[in-house]
Amino acid sequence: MSTHPIRSTRADVVPWPEDVAARYVADGFWSGRSLGAHLYAAADVDPEAVCLVDGATRLTFGDLTARADGAATRLRALGIGADDRIIVQLPNCWEFVVLMVACFRLGALPVMALPAHRRRELTAMAELTGARAIVVADEVKGFDHQELAHEVAAGSDTLRHVLVSGSHQRPDSVDLAWLCRPAADVARARRELDGIAPDGTAVALFLLSGGTTGIPKLIARTHNDYAYMAGRAAEICGLDRSTVCLAVLPLAHGYPMAGPGVLGTLLVGGRVVILPSPAPKRAFETIEQERVTFTSLVPAAVQRWLEYREEDVSHDLGSLRLLQAAGSRLADSVAVRITPTLGCRLQQVYGMAEGLLCMTRPDDPPEVIWHTQGRPICPADELVLVDEDGAPVPPGEPGVLLTRGPYTPRGYYRTPELTALAYSPDGWYRTGDIVRLRPDGNLVVEGRDKDLINRGGEKISAEEVENFAYQLDGVRLAAAVAMPDADLGERVCLYVAPQPGRQVSLGDVRALMERAGVAHFKLPERLEVVDELPVTPVGKVNKKALRADIARRLVAS
Ligand code: AMP
Repeated sequence: MSTHPIRSTRADVVPWPEDVAARYVADGFWSGRSLGAHLYAAADVDPEAVCLVDGATRLTFGDLTARADGAATRLRALGIGADDRIIVQLPNCWEFVVLMVACFRLGALPVMALPAHRRRELTAMAELTGARAIVVADEVKGFDHQELAHEVAAGSDTLRHVLVSGSHQRPDSVDLAWLCRPAADVARARRELDGIAPDGTAVALFLLSGGTTGIPKLIARTHNDYAYMAGRAAEICGLDRSTVCLAVLPLAHGYPMAGPGVLGTLLVGGRVVILPSPAPKRAFETIEQERVTFTSLVPAAVQRWLEYREEDVSHDLGSLRLLQAAGSRLADSVAVRITPTLGCRLQQVYGMAEGLLCMTRPDDPPEVIWHTQGRPICPADELVLVDEDGAPVPPGEPGVLLTRGPYTPRGYYRTPELTALAYSPDGWYRTGDIVRLRPDGNLVVEGRDKDLINRGGEKISAEEVENFAYQLDGVRLAAAVAMPDADLGERVCLYVAPQPGRQVSLGDVRALMERAGVAHFKLPERLEVVDELPVTPVGKVNKKALRADIARRLVAS
């Protein structure tokens, strides 16, 4: 049952203070225009240019705008309009982009669910947002998303429509291919949608915060802030009409979508090529065939690309100029191998769904590119490093990064209790990352003081895993921590102290979480049974000691 009646999104978004907002406008960061307006201005320069490639599908800018306007018109006919939330859980595909643009035109608000999310996460999102529609693929990797979406819709007061891509359509689904057909009267649809374009301060979409707890943390990104971020990132990366961007990470993440990603590329009139995953063989074939110039990876995928290339040099990767790495810390030893092995430049990126985006610049000295995560993209980004008591640390010392800025919203959507935990009253977002600021302005991410596990860029809340463990009979104490992993950087290890005489197995915990409908990537991959958990002097579980313990055990085994 939804606890939130449908009401205006703006009422549930923490706004930037008026004087700050006025400054962002005066300084030119906020254009006041919708993402649709920006994209259509870029599209109109050369409507015949191919801008979106997905397998055999090649759409020109003219096709993209005609299809987006067709989709927006049909969404309206379904009763979905400005400010209506739509949960979007699609694998990477061209329809994803068309639907996004349609939403931007209409003012409908996509809620970006990850393909890995399952009943628990989707239900929570539907409940929190009062979404009217959910968009899924019929099936991905053997999982029936259509069935699940209908199940979630049946349990929701607000979800009215299940939109489905793919050939297996239930009669009560709406066919996404039909929705994304070009408008019947392109000029008329364009006029009508131009007439209802949202203004720049309106929310454009919702991103999910990394390490979401039981209650999803949603970030409402506005047209102004998202357009600025994607456009500025594109400028820094030197993207232009000749850019061919390969999008391989899940597009629900802000990084491949707007850092500069898909949107940044389209905003400058470039071309986006979509693949369902970063698997190296297909990616390399595509780079060669499509003459890809730019792409974005997480460090785990960088590693796989390097290993593949070291074994097989048959593909011509000569077109690739810039490769971004972000989502988790890229090891210095991996960073230095990229240019010699793949022949392109590296750009390190550090960012978060909450906003702040830092990047090394393509013309930075190699030392900066190899060893730092770059600097903020906007001169109005504010950064401060603080110690455990919230006091600023001396220059050059590591501290927890707090930030504010023109594309970092001031709180979470609809959850003041979560906002109070992560934002200061004067709007600083506490990243939970421990960073060091070098004298040249570049950041080095040294660790984190937030309780999550970063599994190949996907964030998992330790608390969420522990809450499941505590539901098992026989569990006295539980603590989820990151264990080091050569492929993914980190995986979830669960420490359990059972009640006397009781036994707990990894299979028990995993089965419980699967039954609860949790995304698979959150399931612990190792269980350590102990008599007691170590505690800190203030009596909290000492996770640092546990992380060290599991690292030691892995080396020993
Ligand atoms: P998300 O919102 O899922 O993009 O996660 C954001 C978080 O990912 C940041 O707060 C960091 O903890 C982590 N992160 C992103 N990029 C990097 C990076 N280059 N190095 C280390 N951690 C990173």
